[in-house]
Amino acid sequence: MECTTNRAGAHCGFMSKNGCTYVAGACFEIVEKCEGCDRIAETEAGRFCAVYPYPEMKWQRGVCNFATHVKPELPRTDQGATLNPLKAAKRASRGR
Ligand code: SF4
Repeated sequence: MECTTNRAGAHCGFMSKNGCTYVAGACFEIVEKCEGCDRIAETEAGRFCAVYPYPEMKWQRGVCNFATHVKPELPRTDQGATLNPLKAAKRASRGR
């Protein structure tokens, strides 16, 4: 449905006929780490993320996976080569 709170007019999955169903009844503003991202939506109510209602939470476990301005760091070997994260997880589960 169309948002009637912070991002008025934008389509949002959290909107219902009874209003915003997200935690605080509206989405949260972007955080400093979001600066430079193409997904920032500026509205009269402030600056919000166009794809996620709680940007601060997206940065709590590293780089936001929706970010357009930052790429996540790939794990590296002792020699400096990048590791395939899937293969690294497989190796770790085998205990090597
Ligand atoms: S996609 Fe991530 S980095 Fe970009 S504005 Fe949204 S929360 Fe911030």
